[in-house]
Amino acid sequence: MRRGFLRMPLSPIQPSPVPTPEAALAPTLVPIPDGHIGCCERVGLSELLKILRNAGESTPSPQPVIFQVPPKATQPNEITTTCITIPETREKLLSKGPYPPINSSEGCRIRVVDVPGKGKGCVSTSVIPRGALIIRERPLVIAPTVMAFPGNFDRTVARAMPPGARAALLSLNNCYEDKVIGVLRTNNWGIGALPGHDAPYGGTGAIISRINHSCAPNALFRWNEDMFAAEVRALRPIARGEEVTMCYVPELEGYASRQARLRDAYGFTCTCELCMRAPPVRALSDHRRSQLEGLTAHYDELPDGRVWAWARDVGAPDDALLGALEEQAVMMERELYVRPEGWLTVARPLVKIYCALGNTVAARRWAVCAASYTRAATGTDGGWEAVARVPEQTIWWGARAKTSGR
Ligand SMILES: [Zn+2]
Repeated sequence: MRRGFLRMPLSPIQPSPVPTPEAALAPTLVPIPDGHIGCCERVGLSELLKILRNAGESTPSPQPVIFQVPPKATQPNEITTTCITIPETREKLLSKGPYPPINSSEGCRIRVVDVPGKGKGCVSTSVIPRGALIIRERPLVIAPTVMAFPGNFDRTVARAMPPGARAALLSLNNCYEDKVIGVLRTNNWGIGALPGHDAPYGGTGAIISRINHSCAPNALFRWNEDMFAAEVRALRPIARGEEVTMCYVPELEGYASRQARLRDAYGFTCTCELCMRAPPVRALSDHRRSQLEGLTAHYDELPDGRVWAWARDVGAPDDALLGALEEQAVMMERELYVRPEGWLTVARPLVKIYCALGNTVAARRWAVCAASYTRAATGTDGGWEAVARVPEQTIWWGARAKTSGR
């Protein structure tokens, strides 16, 4: 769910607008990025059933149509996506192209291997820094996750697919009876709504869908609408040969709830680092996670107004706002928590606070953190790399020192 930030009126400390020669030469202020980010979730069966039950009351969906995007491959071995949508979405997607050809082996940093106890999985082929692209892949199929398909639809989709793509799709894991639809249900990653159809869609890729689950994952899925491709980016530094994992369930839920979801939708028991903790440690972890769930919601980010109020309050201690944020950061580290939206609720205010205190090293460290998590979620640094280079040129710089007359 997307939520706006609580905003308080600001009276920002701006440089003097008087056009003196010094002001003309003064460096431009580096803007502190605003706005928030959202991330794609894997849509599990239990979520689907919930949505389906709610959708049952609305008008019936239009008949599905099947087509390829792009309509023709322009390069050898290029994957075209078999799309199952409604007619209006077909027109919109086809008129929006041409989409650039995607070669999933280009710049790809993983390979599919046998992982003991898990069937197939993906391991990294190089050291990957946080935020970096691991793979960009055009899906084999995209389809709505809640559409009622006609009885013979399985065969219709299989026939509509190019033979190579069909073979790749059918080689994926299947937790259900339907041959094609079952593979899609088992392996799809949520890509959100498509133009012209406000319904959740899922994409299934030859390589991306091989990435296994972990409750403490090191990678994140996102849908790149402009390229019509799925992307996976690192959520923390990944070593060469390390297994790349993504989380299939809401990460901050407790152990029992995560395991129940995974058994229900995918038929396995998770043995990740977090789930293998001893029961007393696990109980503590569940408690911390429920605390984090409240703390990491977007709308709980420390508002700028409060940071300005502290910066100007001569009586407030310098570390008045730091304690709670740094405590939260320690808890997230301990919980192996890596969601960008959660880390940004800590990193962004910390950049402002350390800028206000005139602490270059700490301001840079948190700006680098904000840049890499923003890149993991959105594909770009969102302006934080500029802040990391010159925190001294942000509007927050030295705000506290000015107040206390130092
Ligand atoms: Zn787990």
